[in-house]
Amino acid sequence: MPSVNSYAAYQAKEALKPYQFERREPGPHDVMIDILYCGVCHSDLHQVRDEWGGATFPMVPGHEIVGKVSQVGSEVKKFKVGDSVGVGCMVDSCQECASCGEGLEQYCEKGFVGTYNSKERDGKTSTQGGYSTKIVVKEDFVLKISPRLPLDKAAPLLCAGITTYSPLRHWKVGPGSKVAVMGLGGLGHMAVKLAAAMGAEVTVISSSNKKKEDAHRLGATQYVLGSEDETFKKYNRYFDLIINTVSASLDLNRFLGLVKRDGAMVLLGIPERPEPIHPFPLVMGRRSLAGSLIGGIKETQEMLDFCAEKGVASDIELIPVQKINEAYERMLKGDVRYRFVIDIASLK
Ligand code: NAP
Ligand code: ZN
Repeated sequence: MPSVNSYAAYQAKEALKPYQFERREPGPHDVMIDILYCGVCHSDLHQVRDEWGGATFPMVPGHEIVGKVSQVGSEVKKFKVGDSVGVGCMVDSCQECASCGEGLEQYCEKGFVGTYNSKERDGKTSTQGGYSTKIVVKEDFVLKISPRLPLDKAAPLLCAGITTYSPLRHWKVGPGSKVAVMGLGGLGHMAVKLAAAMGAEVTVISSSNKKKEDAHRLGATQYVLGSEDETFKKYNRYFDLIINTVSASLDLNRFLGLVKRDGAMVLLGIPERPEPIHPFPLVMGRRSLAGSLIGGIKETQEMLDFCAEKGVASDIELIPVQKINEAYERMLKGDVRYRFVIDIASLK
């Protein structure tokens, strides 16, 4: 069985350390990938600290995986050795339920198999993620990466990209839409780039003044502070859609007032502790408060192709895996411009 070098959390809230384990031999429908880059998502941090409950250890995080195919099973049709490919947050699903049938595997009614901190469909084998040298994945859950995309900057598209692309499409964002993005981190900066590429007017709502210039460079026309009264006066009932990527608890009631009648706020961030929502701001404008989870495989491919065509990729800081614990600390302070990506060569 292929032996793999990785970095893992051995217990909740402990620093990640080197870890060696074995991947399965590729089956007839599997693709083996030599991982080149893996993005660092705030979800990695929530999970290694067991903030969502139910975490299992040792845990190798990482679900923004890009690499080259190194081996294919006998029945594999879509990929050959040497192809540039990606893997996101899912590696399997039941493929029988209504959601899977509609290409919405992320909402699989039996529960999708997460790339890490999850169990394979046998209910026993733990999955392990992309802070590692190789991964073996069923071909249906592998994505093609266009040669037009730089591989390191493409890695974050596999989670931050699709997680923001999917609600922008679902809520039909296009020219004339007024979109606000709360939180300018990994997801937030992709939301700004993608909404701007779709033709929307984009406003960033941040917790500090530090990212203003960057926000304009990324495609936002306005930049406001969530802590200032002026924001709530000036943009009262203004936005068609708010994409909320904030990873910490926040009183959302006030922010809902910024949404137009019949508009929506979509929650992408999943903080450890929820905040109460009052019905008033929803009732008074027939506003919706919704959530959205990553995106299906078909839509992830569509997003990657859209990014290749529009020249959209992530702004990254490439790090060796040995800096991962420091990177988590910086992420907690909102000090990421705008995604850490691990250079997997540092694990070899
Ligand atoms: P990130 O890079 O750390 O960005 C989060 C941003 O939120 C920060 O840059 C900061 O932006 C803002 N923020 C953080 N703490 C804040 C606070 N106390 N008050 C106000 N603003 C604060 O994280 P990410 O990787 O983009 O992930 C964001 C969230 O989405 C996480 O909870 C993650 O688990 C979740 N997520 C969900 C899905 C899904 O499918 N729904 C997928 C991936 C990730 P400013 O500096 O601009 O204020
Ligand atoms: Zn993620």
